[in-house]
Formats: sequence, structure tokens, C-alpha cells
Amino acid sequence: MSRPIQVMKFGGTSVGDADRIRNAAAIAAAASKDRAVVVVVSAMSGVTNSLIAAAGKAASGHEAAAETLSNGLREKHHEAVGKLVLDIEKRRELLAEIDSLIERAANHCRGCALLGELSPRALDVIAGTGERLTARMTAAVLREMGRPGAAFDATDLIVTDEVYGGARPLGEPTRTKTQAALFPVLEKGAIPVVTGYIAATSKGIPTTLGRGGSDYSATILGAALDASEVVIWTDVNGVLTADPRMVPDAATLDEVSYIEAGELAFFGAKVLHPMTLRPVIESGIPVWIRNSFQPELAGTKITQTVRPAPLGVKAVTATRDVAMIAVAGPGIIGVPDIASRIFAATASVRANIVMISQSSSQDSICIVVQASDAARTEKALREALYEDIHHHDLEHIKVNRNLAIVAAVGENMCGTPGIAGRVFSTMGKEGINIIAIAQGSSEYNISFLVDSSGMEKAVKALHDAFGLGQQEKGGGARAVEQVTS
Ligand code: ADP
Ligand code: ASP
Ligand code: MG
Repeated sequence: MSRPIQVMKFGGTSVGDADRIRNAAAIAAAASKDRAVVVVVSAMSGVTNSLIAAAGKAASGHEAAAETLSNGLREKHHEAVGKLVLDIEKRRELLAEIDSLIERAANHCRGCALLGELSPRALDVIAGTGERLTARMTAAVLREMGRPGAAFDATDLIVTDEVYGGARPLGEPTRTKTQAALFPVLEKGAIPVVTGYIAATSKGIPTTLGRGGSDYSATILGAALDASEVVIWTDVNGVLTADPRMVPDAATLDEVSYIEAGELAFFGAKVLHPMTLRPVIESGIPVWIRNSFQPELAGTKITQTVRPAPLGVKAVTATRDVAMIAVAGPGIIGVPDIASRIFAATASVRANIVMISQSSSQDSICIVVQASDAARTEKALREALYEDIHHHDLEHIKVNRNLAIVAAVGENMCGTPGIAGRVFSTMGKEGINIIAIAQGSSEYNISFLVDSSGMEKAVKALHDAFGLGQQEKGGGARAVEQVTS
């Protein structure tokens, strides 16, 4: 490629209605004047949820779910297209394509209703429909603006393993397919608009990268194309010191490291899919988080090395999307290989383990997993430990879903004494009971488990204790010129 490539991704709210799609297309068109641009789009906000809900309802016998879904999606997308594409013939063509994609999703739902079943593989086919719709709409709007937009389904570009609902990309085939499909388009000066979230196995069966996966799509494509940067356009000014919905005075950070952003995402900061930074770390491609509602702001830059936070902690995050599974009973001491069998069972269902703790008396081993992994992890554990449970060596396997993980994150927490003391004395002052604690040897985070009712209080108190609301005030609120000059 002769020009540098920028991959830019627009999230659900950034393509949430006709005005937002026009705004996204205008940002892409402006950027494409001095570089090659690849656009990645999410579904319009709410669409993926409605697809997943309809599939679930259909499978549990609601025959009308498919009709309700297709009526709702048609109304939403027709309304947007009506405002975006004025040429009657072009509008008719786009609506025909949209209707056929919606009908395909509805037909899959009808199939689920008939069978009374919804496999993860079928769910991925249905769930990925929203992105196929927005990619076509955004490409059409670019053409309306006189820019050559061309829609691509990432099922033809990103090759993954066969883990439906949370697939992982295969580097080489993805690189080969993506470059072969997009380089010629970019060389011609066109703007590819690629579906986020979806991909396909090497046999061409559709997969998804997990909820919120469009961020990951952007960095996968960025790495595959050797892009010079990836920009994630969203609805906040960048990476903040805490979720602004929980902490209204959270400040925008000018810069965070790959490690810090990765830890925040891992512990629930929704602004990034947890895997987002993996594809770009090795090649050092910078990732920007910017606000599509305020494109004049520079946002947060995520790179390898950044300035440390004065008090060690840079941001605080928390999530209720976890469940603790306790394998417990006095007999556990005498059970050989218990830990290895527990982890073999969790690995067999690819459970994402967020935290592990073992009590000193060794009569319980607790693992904390993503809530979405809890049911299949529990099942796998019950199967793996069936004999032990049966013979009462183990008293129980218990799942607790009323918990939350809180994490303080910062790269130079490592080697800064007193941080753990301050974290836990803050919790003590607030009267928040800590159920389990974990600190990786890397010391990039301190994370702990609390009752979910105490989560917000814990986050606010830590944010205050480390002075984060004041830190780098105005960060991310810098205008673009201040950053580039
Ligand atoms: P998109 O639809 O653009 O992908 P998401 O809703 O997935 O956007 O992610 C953006 C949201 O992430 C923000 O609106 C914010 O509420 C939430 N969020 C949670 N933690 C943070 C954080 N530390 N910094 C910024 N945003 C955060
Ligand atoms: N539309 C998908 C979701 O809602 C992917 C994304 O938005 O990133 O999970
Ligand atoms: Mg998101």
C-alpha cells in the first residue's frame, strides 16, 4: 500500500440512527482525504440485543418472535434509509438487500421455534445480522457523499476457530484474506465498510467474537493490514478514570498503556472488548478512543509506554458480570489432583477465569468466571467431580451470582509501596466486606470481590482515595490541534 491505513470503528450509539450514521460517514470521508481508511461498524444500538432475545424466545416456543423481530428491524432500518438515501432507485436496491438479510434472520428464528433449540452456532448466524445491515447503510451514505464506499462482510475476511459466541482469529489466514480483498479496493481510493463482531471459520461457517466484539474486529483488521493506527469512535471522550455512569466526575485519560487498557477491559470497562489490544501489541499500532459526538476532541491514546499516574492507580473499574463457583467440603484435602481436575474442567469449556482463591485450610477452592460462562462451567465441574461428590469427598459445588469484582489498575503500581494498604483501608472505612483478593505478580492491578450491592460505593471511594477525579483534568478534552501541534 502506498498510503498509511487508518482503521476506524463506530460503536452502536455512533451508528444509532440516520444522523449518527451520516456523522460517522462524514468522519470517515474527512479522514480519507490524506490516508486510506477502513471503516468497521457495529449494529445500530439495541439491534444485537433484540436479535439475541428473539432467537432465545423462538427456541423456547414463542412462534411470533420471528415476526416481531423482522417487523421491528424493518421499521428501524427503513426509517434510517429513508432519511439517508434520497435517490429512489438506490434506496429501493438497498432496502431490498436489507429486507432479505432481515428475512434470513427471521427464518433462522422460525427454524429455532420448529426445533425448540438454539445452538451457539445458530445464534451466531442470527446475532451478526445487525452489523451486515449497518455496513451496507454506511457504505451507501458514503456514496451519497460522493465517496466510493463498499460494504464487506467480515465473514469473508476474518478467519477464526470454531468457538461460537467467542471465537478467536487465526492470524495468517486472516491476513491473507483481508489483504487480498481490501488492498485493491484501498489502492483505488475507495473506503471499505466492514461488519464488526462477525467472522467465519476456515470452512466459512459464521462466528462472532463475543459481545462488544466490534472493537476486536477493528484491531484484528488493523493488524492484518499493517495499519498505522486504529481509532475506536464511541460515546465517551476516551478511557476514563472510571465508568462515568458510576462516577460522574471521572476524568478522561490522555494516554494509557496497552497493559493498563487491557486490564481495565478485562475487569469490566465496557469501553473496550477485553481482547481488543491483543492483535496490535506486538506491532505497536496505536489505538485511539474518541467521542463521535465530539470529534474535535483528541481522546485517549493507547500505546506501549506512557506516563505513570502520580499515586500509582490510574483508573478503577468494576463488573457484576461474574459468578463465583466454590468447590468445597472438608474432604477436599484428601482428593488427589483436585486443583488440576478443576482447571481441566474449566479449560474444557473455555471458561474465562477472572480470579482464583484457595482458603488456607484448603477446604475450598473458589474460581470467579464471567457470568456468561457460569452455567457451563458448573456443569463441567459437576461432571468432572461426579465421583467425588457422590462419595461425599466434596460437600458441594455452589454458584454465587450476587458478587462484583472491583479492580484498581495502573502500570506503576508495580514497585509503589502502600497501594494495597490504601485500597483496603478505604474499603474498611466504607464498611465494605471483601470476599476474596487477587493481585497478579505483575502488579498492574489489585482486584477484589465484594457483594454486588457494595460495588458502586467501592468504586466511588477508591476513585476519591486516589484523587482520580482531579488527575489529568481536561485530559481527552484536548482539542485535536493541541495534540498534533
Ligand atoms: P460502543 O457502542 O461505542 O462500543 P460501549 O457502550 O460498548 O460503546 O462502550 C462505551 C461505554 O463504556 C461508555 O458509555 C461508558 O459508560 C462505558 N465505560 C465503562 N468503563 C469506562 C471507562 N473506564 N472509560 C470509558 N468508558 C467506560
Ligand atoms: N453489536 C455487537 C454487540 O452488541 C458488537 C459490538 O457492538 O461491538 O455486542
Ligand atoms: Mg462496545
